[in-house]
Amino acid sequence: MDRHAIVIGAGLAGSSAAERLAARGWRISLVERAAAPGAGASGNLAGVLRPLPSLDDNRLARLTRAAFEYALAHLQALTAAGLPLRWGQTGVLHLARDERHAASQQRVVAEQAPAAGYLRWVARETASELAGWPVAGGGWWFAGGGWVDPASLCRANLARHGAAVMPHYGLAVERVEYAAGCWRCFASSGEIIAAAPILVLANAGDARRFAATSHLPLRTARGQVSHLPAAAGSAPGVVVCRLGYVTPAIDGLRCAGATFAVDDDEAGLRGADHADNLARLEFILPGYSRHIDAAELGGRVGFRPLSPDRLPMIGAVADAAAFAAGSAAATLADLRRVPGLFLVNGFGARGIVWSALAGELLACLIERRTPPLAADLVAAVDPGRFLLRRQRQHRHSGVGQRQGGGGPLACGNG
Ligand SMILES: Cc1cc2nc3c(=O)[nH]c(=O)nc-3n(C[C@H](O)[C@H](O)[C@H](O)COP(=O)(O)OP(=O)(O)OC[C@H]3O[C@@H](n4cnc5c(N)ncnc54)[C@H](O)[C@@H]3O)c2cc1C
Repeated sequence: MDRHAIVIGAGLAGSSAAERLAARGWRISLVERAAAPGAGASGNLAGVLRPLPSLDDNRLARLTRAAFEYALAHLQALTAAGLPLRWGQTGVLHLARDERHAASQQRVVAEQAPAAGYLRWVARETASELAGWPVAGGGWWFAGGGWVDPASLCRANLARHGAAVMPHYGLAVERVEYAAGCWRCFASSGEIIAAAPILVLANAGDARRFAATSHLPLRTARGQVSHLPAAAGSAPGVVVCRLGYVTPAIDGLRCAGATFAVDDDEAGLRGADHADNLARLEFILPGYSRHIDAAELGGRVGFRPLSPDRLPMIGAVADAAAFAAGSAAATLADLRRVPGLFLVNGFGARGIVWSALAGELLACLIERRTPPLAADLVAAVDPGRFLLRRQRQHRHSGVGQRQGGGGPLACGNG
Protein backbone atom coordinates (compact mmCIF):
# COMPACT_ATOMS: atom_id res chain seq x y z
CA MET A 1 0.00 0.00 0.00
CA ASP A 2 1.09 3.58 -0.65
CA ARG A 3 2.28 4.81 2.77
CA HIS A 4 0.49 8.11 2.48
CA ALA A 5 -2.13 9.40 4.91
CA ILE A 6 -4.25 12.51 5.21
CA VAL A 7 -4.60 13.88 8.73
CA ILE A 8 -7.36 16.45 9.31
CA GLY A 9 -6.58 18.69 12.28
CA ALA A 10 -3.26 20.04 13.55
CA GLY A 11 -3.96 19.98 17.27
CA LEU A 12 -2.43 17.57 19.77
CA ALA A 13 -4.32 14.63 18.26
CA GLY A 14 -3.45 15.25 14.61
CA SER A 15 0.14 16.39 15.15
CA SER A 16 0.87 13.34 17.34
CA ALA A 17 -0.64 10.94 14.80
CA ALA A 18 1.27 12.63 11.98
CA GLU A 19 4.53 12.49 13.93
CA ARG A 20 4.24 8.80 14.76
CA LEU A 21 3.30 7.86 11.19
CA ALA A 22 6.08 10.01 9.72
CA ALA A 23 8.53 8.29 12.09
CA ARG A 24 7.62 5.05 10.31
CA GLY A 25 8.27 6.46 6.86
CA TRP A 26 4.76 7.65 5.99
CA ARG A 27 4.05 10.82 4.03
CA ILE A 28 1.37 12.95 5.64
CA SER A 29 -0.92 15.49 4.02
CA LEU A 30 -1.99 17.57 6.99
CA VAL A 31 -5.09 19.71 6.53
CA GLU A 32 -5.87 22.39 9.09
CA ARG A 33 -8.47 25.12 8.75
CA ALA A 34 -6.50 27.56 10.93
CA ALA A 35 -3.36 29.33 9.74
CA ALA A 36 -1.08 27.39 12.11
CA PRO A 37 -1.02 24.29 14.36
CA GLY A 38 -2.46 24.38 17.88
CA ALA A 39 -5.20 26.90 17.17
CA GLY A 40 -8.07 24.93 18.73
CA ALA A 41 -8.27 23.32 22.19
CA SER A 42 -4.52 22.74 21.92
CA GLY A 43 -3.69 26.45 21.98
CA ASN A 44 -3.61 27.37 25.65
CA LEU A 45 -0.51 29.01 27.04
CA ALA A 46 0.09 25.95 29.21
CA GLY A 47 -1.67 22.87 30.53
CA VAL A 48 -0.90 20.24 33.13
CA LEU A 49 0.97 16.98 32.54
CA ARG A 50 0.29 14.45 35.27
CA PRO A 51 -1.20 10.98 35.75
CA LEU A 52 -4.50 10.20 37.43
CA PRO A 53 -4.20 7.34 39.95
CA SER A 54 -7.28 5.63 41.42
CA LEU A 55 -7.77 3.20 44.28
CA ASP A 56 -9.09 0.48 41.97
CA ASP A 57 -6.44 1.27 39.35
CA ASN A 58 -9.21 1.45 36.76
CA ARG A 59 -8.81 1.71 33.00
CA LEU A 60 -8.65 5.50 33.03
CA ALA A 61 -5.88 5.37 35.64
CA ARG A 62 -3.93 2.66 33.77
CA LEU A 63 -4.26 4.42 30.43
CA THR A 64 -3.22 7.74 31.92
CA ARG A 65 -0.21 6.22 33.70
CA ALA A 66 1.00 4.55 30.49
CA ALA A 67 0.37 7.78 28.56
CA PHE A 68 2.17 9.92 31.15
CA GLU A 69 5.28 7.76 30.95
CA TYR A 70 5.14 7.71 27.17
CA ALA A 71 4.62 11.50 27.05
CA LEU A 72 7.65 12.16 29.26
CA ALA A 73 9.89 10.09 26.99
CA HIS A 74 8.40 11.81 23.93
CA LEU A 75 8.89 15.33 25.32
CA GLN A 76 12.45 14.49 26.31
CA ALA A 77 13.16 13.15 22.81
CA LEU A 78 11.73 16.29 21.16
CA THR A 79 13.82 18.48 23.46
CA ALA A 80 16.95 16.43 22.78
CA ALA A 81 16.31 16.83 19.03
CA GLY A 82 16.45 20.61 19.51
CA LEU A 83 12.80 21.15 18.56
CA PRO A 84 11.08 24.31 19.84
CA LEU A 85 9.04 22.61 22.56
CA ARG A 86 8.19 24.62 25.65
CA TRP A 87 7.57 22.71 28.84
CA GLY A 88 8.71 22.65 32.42
CA GLN A 89 9.16 19.50 34.48
CA THR A 90 8.54 21.40 37.69
CA GLY A 91 6.56 18.69 39.46
CA VAL A 92 2.80 18.71 40.07
CA LEU A 93 1.26 19.00 43.52
CA HIS A 94 -2.26 17.56 43.49
CA LEU A 95 -3.79 18.65 46.79
CA ALA A 96 -6.62 16.65 48.37
CA ARG A 97 -9.99 18.42 48.21
CA ASP A 98 -11.03 17.30 51.71
CA GLU A 99 -10.11 14.82 54.42
CA ARG A 100 -11.86 11.91 52.76
CA HIS A 101 -9.96 12.55 49.55
CA ALA A 102 -6.71 12.89 51.50
CA ALA A 103 -7.34 9.47 53.08
CA SER A 104 -7.97 7.89 49.69
CA GLN A 105 -4.86 9.55 48.20
CA GLN A 106 -2.82 8.08 51.05
CA ARG A 107 -4.36 4.64 50.53
CA VAL A 108 -3.42 4.71 46.84
CA VAL A 109 0.21 5.33 47.77
CA ALA A 110 0.17 2.73 50.56
CA GLU A 111 -1.49 0.00 48.48
CA GLN A 112 0.11 0.60 45.10
CA ALA A 113 3.58 1.49 46.42
CA PRO A 114 4.55 3.61 43.39
CA ALA A 115 8.19 4.63 42.87
CA ALA A 116 8.81 7.81 44.88
CA GLY A 117 9.98 9.63 41.75
CA TYR A 118 6.56 8.95 40.23
CA LEU A 119 4.21 9.60 43.13
CA ARG A 120 4.42 10.21 46.83
CA TRP A 121 2.09 11.58 49.46
CA VAL A 122 3.16 14.79 51.18
CA ALA A 123 1.63 16.22 54.34
CA ARG A 124 0.54 19.85 54.62
CA GLU A 125 3.88 21.26 55.72
CA THR A 126 5.83 19.74 52.83
CA ALA A 127 3.01 20.61 50.43
CA SER A 128 3.24 24.26 51.53
CA GLU A 129 6.99 24.23 51.01
CA LEU A 130 6.60 22.75 47.53
CA ALA A 131 3.92 25.29 46.62
CA GLY A 132 5.81 28.17 48.20
CA TRP A 133 2.49 29.18 49.76
CA PRO A 134 0.57 27.96 52.83
CA VAL A 135 -1.96 25.35 51.72
CA ALA A 136 -4.89 23.77 53.57
CA GLY A 137 -3.71 20.14 53.59
CA GLY A 138 -1.54 17.47 52.00
CA GLY A 139 -1.68 15.81 48.64
CA TRP A 140 0.00 13.81 45.92
CA TRP A 141 3.37 14.94 44.62
CA PHE A 142 4.24 13.92 41.07
CA ALA A 143 7.89 14.93 40.83
CA GLY A 144 8.08 14.11 37.11
CA GLY A 145 4.97 16.07 36.13
CA GLY A 146 4.83 19.66 34.99
CA TRP A 147 3.39 22.08 32.45
CA VAL A 148 3.44 21.96 28.65
CA ASP A 149 2.74 24.66 26.06
CA PRO A 150 0.49 22.49 23.86
CA ALA A 151 0.80 24.53 20.65
CA SER A 152 4.58 24.27 20.90
CA LEU A 153 4.17 20.50 21.22
CA CYS A 154 2.05 20.47 18.03
CA ARG A 155 4.70 22.49 16.20
CA ALA A 156 7.52 20.28 17.46
CA ASN A 157 5.64 17.11 16.44
CA LEU A 158 5.09 18.46 12.94
CA ALA A 159 8.68 19.68 12.52
CA ARG A 160 10.33 16.46 13.71
CA HIS A 161 10.36 14.59 10.39
CA GLY A 162 10.93 17.51 8.05
CA ALA A 163 9.27 17.27 4.65
CA ALA A 164 7.43 14.01 5.50
CA VAL A 165 4.57 16.17 6.79
CA MET A 166 3.06 18.35 4.05
CA PRO A 167 0.83 20.97 5.68
CA HIS A 168 -2.20 22.63 4.09
CA TYR A 169 -3.06 25.45 6.49
CA GLY A 170 -6.04 27.74 6.14
CA LEU A 171 -8.14 25.09 4.41
CA ALA A 172 -11.23 23.58 6.02
CA VAL A 173 -12.33 20.15 4.86
CA GLU A 174 -15.99 20.44 3.95
CA ARG A 175 -16.56 16.82 2.95
CA VAL A 176 -14.68 13.57 2.40
CA GLU A 177 -15.27 10.85 -0.15
CA TYR A 178 -13.95 7.30 -0.59
CA ALA A 179 -13.68 5.58 -3.94
CA ALA A 180 -11.42 2.93 -5.45
CA GLY A 181 -9.18 2.67 -2.38
CA CYS A 182 -8.67 6.42 -2.08
CA TRP A 183 -9.93 9.07 0.34
CA ARG A 184 -10.35 12.58 -0.99
CA CYS A 185 -10.88 15.72 1.06
CA PHE A 186 -12.80 18.58 -0.49
CA ALA A 187 -12.90 22.28 0.39
CA SER A 188 -16.22 24.12 0.25
CA SER A 189 -15.20 25.41 -3.21
CA GLY A 190 -15.23 21.79 -4.44
CA GLU A 191 -11.42 21.79 -4.79
CA ILE A 192 -9.68 18.54 -3.77
CA ILE A 193 -7.27 19.42 -0.97
CA ALA A 194 -5.62 16.02 -0.60
CA ALA A 195 -6.05 12.38 -1.55
CA ALA A 196 -4.56 9.26 0.06
CA PRO A 197 -5.49 5.66 0.93
CA ILE A 198 -5.64 6.42 4.67
CA LEU A 199 -7.62 9.22 6.31
CA VAL A 200 -7.15 10.14 9.98
CA LEU A 201 -9.83 12.37 11.52
CA ALA A 202 -8.25 14.45 14.27
CA ASN A 203 -10.59 17.40 13.92
CA ALA A 204 -12.11 17.23 17.41
CA GLY A 205 -15.85 18.00 17.65
CA ASP A 206 -16.01 18.73 13.92
CA ALA A 207 -15.55 15.01 13.11
CA ARG A 208 -19.31 14.58 13.31
CA ARG A 209 -19.77 16.57 10.11
CA PHE A 210 -18.73 13.53 8.04
CA ALA A 211 -21.32 10.82 7.34
CA ALA A 212 -19.04 7.95 8.40
CA THR A 213 -18.47 9.44 11.86
CA SER A 214 -21.76 11.24 12.41
CA HIS A 215 -22.91 8.38 14.71
CA LEU A 216 -20.17 9.05 17.27
CA PRO A 217 -21.36 10.50 20.59
CA LEU A 218 -18.87 13.38 20.47
CA ARG A 219 -19.63 16.60 22.31
CA THR A 220 -17.57 19.59 23.33
CA ALA A 221 -16.89 21.23 26.67
CA ARG A 222 -16.04 24.93 26.66
CA GLY A 223 -13.14 25.79 28.93
CA GLN A 224 -11.86 29.22 29.91
CA VAL A 225 -8.41 29.74 31.40
CA SER A 226 -7.48 32.97 33.19
CA HIS A 227 -4.07 34.57 32.71
CA LEU A 228 -2.65 36.08 35.87
CA PRO A 229 0.21 38.58 35.68
CA ALA A 230 3.17 37.02 37.51
CA ALA A 231 6.66 38.15 38.40
CA ALA A 232 9.45 35.76 37.45
CA GLY A 233 10.40 33.56 40.41
CA SER A 234 7.16 34.22 42.29
CA ALA A 235 5.28 31.34 43.92
CA PRO A 236 4.14 28.82 42.97
CA GLY A 237 7.09 27.53 41.00
CA VAL A 238 5.35 24.16 40.54
CA VAL A 239 1.93 23.26 39.14
CA VAL A 240 -0.64 23.08 41.94
CA CYS A 241 -4.05 21.41 41.49
CA ARG A 242 -7.14 21.15 43.67
CA LEU A 243 -10.38 21.00 41.66
CA GLY A 244 -8.55 23.34 39.30
CA TYR A 245 -4.95 24.24 38.60
CA VAL A 246 -2.45 27.05 38.62
CA THR A 247 0.83 26.95 36.72
CA PRO A 248 4.19 28.57 37.39
CA ALA A 249 4.89 31.91 35.67
CA ILE A 250 5.51 31.50 31.94
CA ASP A 251 6.60 34.69 30.13
CA GLY A 252 5.13 36.81 32.89
CA LEU A 253 1.78 35.04 33.06
CA ARG A 254 0.47 32.09 35.00
CA CYS A 255 -2.60 30.08 33.93
CA ALA A 256 -5.41 29.42 36.37
CA GLY A 257 -8.32 27.29 35.34
CA ALA A 258 -10.35 26.00 34.06
CA THR A 259 -14.10 26.19 33.59
CA PHE A 260 -15.94 23.22 32.06
CA ALA A 261 -19.30 23.73 30.32
CA VAL A 262 -20.70 21.06 28.02
CA ASP A 263 -22.38 22.11 24.74
CA ASP A 264 -21.61 25.79 25.36
CA ASP A 265 -20.22 27.36 22.20
CA GLU A 266 -19.59 30.95 23.24
CA ALA A 267 -16.12 31.81 21.98
CA GLY A 268 -15.61 35.10 23.85
CA LEU A 269 -14.11 35.47 27.34
CA ARG A 270 -16.60 35.84 30.21
CA GLY A 271 -16.05 37.84 33.39
CA ALA A 272 -18.08 35.29 35.37
CA ASP A 273 -15.71 32.55 34.27
CA HIS A 274 -12.69 34.56 35.42
CA ALA A 275 -14.46 34.90 38.79
CA ASP A 276 -14.98 31.10 38.86
CA ASN A 277 -11.30 30.57 38.12
CA LEU A 278 -10.31 32.94 40.92
CA ALA A 279 -12.56 31.00 43.30
CA ARG A 280 -10.78 27.80 42.21
CA LEU A 281 -7.43 29.51 42.74
CA GLU A 282 -8.50 30.55 46.23
CA PHE A 283 -9.41 26.92 47.04
CA ILE A 284 -5.94 25.84 45.84
CA LEU A 285 -3.91 28.61 47.47
CA PRO A 286 -5.91 30.35 50.22
CA GLY A 287 -5.47 34.14 50.14
CA TYR A 288 -3.71 34.14 46.76
CA SER A 289 -6.47 35.77 44.74
CA ARG A 290 -7.21 38.50 47.29
CA HIS A 291 -5.61 41.30 45.24
CA ILE A 292 -6.51 40.04 41.78
CA ASP A 293 -9.34 41.79 39.94
CA ALA A 294 -11.29 39.44 37.65
CA ALA A 295 -12.25 42.40 35.44
CA GLU A 296 -8.61 43.00 34.50
CA LEU A 297 -7.71 39.46 33.49
CA GLY A 298 -6.97 38.10 30.05
CA GLY A 299 -7.44 34.49 29.16
CA ARG A 300 -8.34 32.01 26.48
CA VAL A 301 -11.35 29.89 25.55
CA GLY A 302 -11.10 26.41 24.03
CA PHE A 303 -13.45 23.53 23.28
CA ARG A 304 -12.45 20.10 24.57
CA PRO A 305 -13.68 17.18 22.45
CA LEU A 306 -15.54 14.88 24.84
CA SER A 307 -16.57 11.26 24.72
CA PRO A 308 -19.35 10.11 27.06
CA ASP A 309 -17.23 7.57 28.95
CA ARG A 310 -14.32 10.03 29.34
CA LEU A 311 -11.99 7.69 27.44
CA PRO A 312 -10.51 8.77 24.11
CA MET A 313 -11.51 7.38 20.71
CA ILE A 314 -8.50 5.92 18.92
CA GLY A 315 -8.60 3.45 16.05
CA ALA A 316 -10.46 2.32 12.95
CA VAL A 317 -13.92 3.81 12.44
CA ALA A 318 -16.68 1.20 12.58
CA ASP A 319 -19.10 1.01 9.67
CA ALA A 320 -22.29 2.34 11.28
CA ALA A 321 -24.30 2.01 8.07
CA ALA A 322 -23.49 -1.71 7.72
CA PHE A 323 -24.25 -2.17 11.41
CA ALA A 324 -27.63 -0.46 11.13
CA ALA A 325 -28.41 -2.57 8.07
CA GLY A 326 -28.03 -5.68 10.21
CA SER A 327 -24.48 -6.99 9.89
CA ALA A 328 -24.09 -9.23 12.94
CA ALA A 329 -21.53 -8.02 15.48
CA ALA A 330 -21.23 -9.18 19.05
CA THR A 331 -17.69 -8.01 19.70
CA LEU A 332 -15.36 -5.27 18.52
CA ALA A 333 -13.53 -7.80 16.36
CA ASP A 334 -16.80 -8.62 14.55
CA LEU A 335 -17.51 -5.01 13.61
CA ARG A 336 -17.04 -4.04 10.00
CA ARG A 337 -14.75 -1.05 9.61
CA VAL A 338 -14.86 1.75 7.08
CA PRO A 339 -11.88 1.06 4.79
CA GLY A 340 -8.88 3.27 5.48
CA LEU A 341 -10.70 5.55 7.94
CA PHE A 342 -9.23 6.18 11.41
CA LEU A 343 -10.04 8.46 14.30
CA VAL A 344 -8.06 10.04 17.12
CA ASN A 345 -10.40 12.14 19.19
CA GLY A 346 -12.30 12.55 22.46
CA PHE A 347 -9.29 13.66 24.52
CA GLY A 348 -11.49 15.76 26.82
CA ALA A 349 -9.39 17.42 29.50
CA ARG A 350 -6.39 15.12 29.02
CA GLY A 351 -4.99 15.76 25.57
CA ILE A 352 -1.59 16.86 26.87
CA VAL A 353 -1.03 13.63 28.74
CA TRP A 354 -2.72 11.26 26.25
CA SER A 355 -1.73 12.56 22.83
CA ALA A 356 1.75 11.09 22.33
CA LEU A 357 0.67 7.56 23.26
CA ALA A 358 -2.53 7.99 21.24
CA GLY A 359 -0.43 8.83 18.16
CA GLU A 360 1.72 5.76 18.70
CA LEU A 361 -1.31 3.52 19.22
CA LEU A 362 -2.98 4.85 16.10
CA ALA A 363 0.15 4.30 14.00
CA CYS A 364 0.40 0.69 15.29
CA LEU A 365 -3.27 0.06 14.48
CA ILE A 366 -2.89 1.49 10.96
CA GLU A 367 0.18 -0.67 10.36
CA ARG A 368 -1.40 -3.69 12.11
CA ARG A 369 1.51 -3.91 14.54
CA THR A 370 1.43 -4.89 18.20
CA PRO A 371 -0.12 -1.97 20.11
CA PRO A 372 1.81 -0.29 22.94
CA LEU A 373 -1.04 -0.98 25.40
CA ALA A 374 -2.77 -3.98 26.99
CA ALA A 375 -5.56 -5.46 24.86
CA ASP A 376 -8.33 -4.38 27.26
CA LEU A 377 -7.15 -0.75 27.05
CA VAL A 378 -6.97 -0.88 23.25
CA ALA A 379 -10.57 -2.17 23.30
CA ALA A 380 -11.57 0.51 25.82
CA VAL A 381 -10.57 3.29 23.40
CA ASP A 382 -11.86 1.61 20.22
CA PRO A 383 -14.32 4.00 18.52
CA GLY A 384 -16.49 0.97 17.66
CA ARG A 385 -17.47 0.52 21.31
CA PHE A 386 -20.33 2.99 20.99
CA LEU A 387 -22.14 0.96 18.32
CA LEU A 388 -21.97 -2.18 20.46
CA ARG A 389 -23.17 -0.26 23.50
CA ARG A 390 -26.09 1.17 21.60
CA GLN A 391 -27.01 -2.32 20.43
CA ARG A 392 -26.94 -3.61 24.01
CA GLN A 393 -29.07 -0.71 25.21
CA HIS A 394 -31.60 -1.36 22.47
CA ARG A 395 -31.73 -5.04 23.38
CA HIS A 396 -32.33 -4.24 27.03
CA SER A 397 -35.02 -1.73 26.16
CA GLY A 398 -36.63 -4.20 23.73
CA VAL A 399 -35.97 -2.02 20.68
CA GLY A 400 -34.78 -3.80 17.52
CA GLN A 401 -31.16 -3.13 16.64
CA ARG A 402 -31.82 -2.62 12.94
CA GLN A 403 -33.43 0.78 13.07
CA GLY A 404 -31.79 4.13 12.69
CA GLY A 405 -29.31 4.10 12.00
CA GLY A 406 -9.04 9.83 -9.77
CA GLY A 407 -9.27 13.59 -9.89
CA PRO A 408 -6.57 16.14 -10.19
CA LEU A 409 -5.00 14.82 -6.98
CA ALA A 410 -4.95 11.08 -7.46
CA CYS A 411 -4.04 8.93 -4.47
CA GLY A 412 -0.39 9.28 -3.65
CA ASN A 413 0.02 12.78 -5.10
CA GLY A 414 -1.31 15.10 -2.42
C1 LIG B 1 -9.39 25.29 28.98
C2 LIG B 1 -8.71 23.99 28.73
C3 LIG B 1 -7.77 23.53 29.63
C4 LIG B 1 -7.14 22.30 29.39
N1 LIG B 1 -6.18 21.86 30.30
C5 LIG B 1 -5.57 20.68 30.07
C6 LIG B 1 -4.58 20.20 30.96
O1 LIG B 1 -4.25 20.87 31.93
N2 LIG B 1 -4.01 19.00 30.71
C7 LIG B 1 -4.35 18.23 29.63
O2 LIG B 1 -3.83 17.11 29.47
N3 LIG B 1 -5.29 18.66 28.77
C8 LIG B 1 -5.90 19.86 28.96
N4 LIG B 1 -6.85 20.30 28.11
C9 LIG B 1 -7.30 19.39 27.04
C10 LIG B 1 -6.48 19.43 25.78
O3 LIG B 1 -6.12 20.75 25.47
C11 LIG B 1 -7.36 18.81 24.67
O4 LIG B 1 -7.70 17.49 25.04
C12 LIG B 1 -6.62 18.76 23.35
O5 LIG B 1 -6.13 20.02 23.01
C13 LIG B 1 -7.53 18.24 22.23
O6 LIG B 1 -6.72 18.14 21.08
P1 LIG B 1 -7.36 17.86 19.65
O7 LIG B 1 -6.23 17.84 18.70
O8 LIG B 1 -8.26 16.70 19.73
O9 LIG B 1 -8.32 19.12 19.40
P2 LIG B 1 -7.94 20.57 18.82
O10 LIG B 1 -6.72 21.10 19.44
O11 LIG B 1 -9.17 21.39 18.93
O12 LIG B 1 -7.57 20.28 17.30
C14 LIG B 1 -8.52 20.03 16.29
C15 LIG B 1 -8.05 20.80 15.07
O13 LIG B 1 -8.85 20.44 13.96
C16 LIG B 1 -9.05 21.59 13.18
N5 LIG B 1 -10.24 21.35 12.37
C17 LIG B 1 -11.50 21.12 12.82
N6 LIG B 1 -12.33 20.88 11.81
C18 LIG B 1 -11.58 20.97 10.68
C19 LIG B 1 -11.90 20.81 9.30
N7 LIG B 1 -13.15 20.52 8.87
N8 LIG B 1 -10.91 20.98 8.38
C20 LIG B 1 -9.64 21.28 8.79
N9 LIG B 1 -9.30 21.43 10.09
C21 LIG B 1 -10.27 21.27 11.03
C22 LIG B 1 -9.20 22.71 14.20
O14 LIG B 1 -8.95 23.98 13.63
C23 LIG B 1 -8.18 22.31 15.26
O15 LIG B 1 -6.92 22.91 15.06
C24 LIG B 1 -7.46 21.53 28.26
C25 LIG B 1 -8.38 22.04 27.34
C26 LIG B 1 -9.00 23.26 27.55
C27 LIG B 1 -9.97 23.78 26.53
